[in-house]
Amino acid sequence: MILKIIVVAALLYLIYRALGGEFRLPTKKSKENREKEDNTLVECCKCGVYITQKEAIKKGECFYCQECIKG
Ligand SMILES: [Zn+2]
Repeated sequence: MILKIIVVAALLYLIYRALGGEFRLPTKKSKENREKEDNTLVECCKCGVYITQKEAIKKGECFYCQECIKG
């Protein structure tokens, strides 16, 4: 039972780390950083699908995929 909680906690931590990298954007945006950002995966706030930041549309704090922004 406790082991299960640890595994879930570890997974959540990994997700947090992955997302945490997204929000810490550098203040100075070089071309390299920009390209790196474009290839970063973000989760669509509406349907939860993962898209690259290049394809994603940012609205406020959230990213949306092409499909969700249409409808
Ligand atoms: Zn979507």
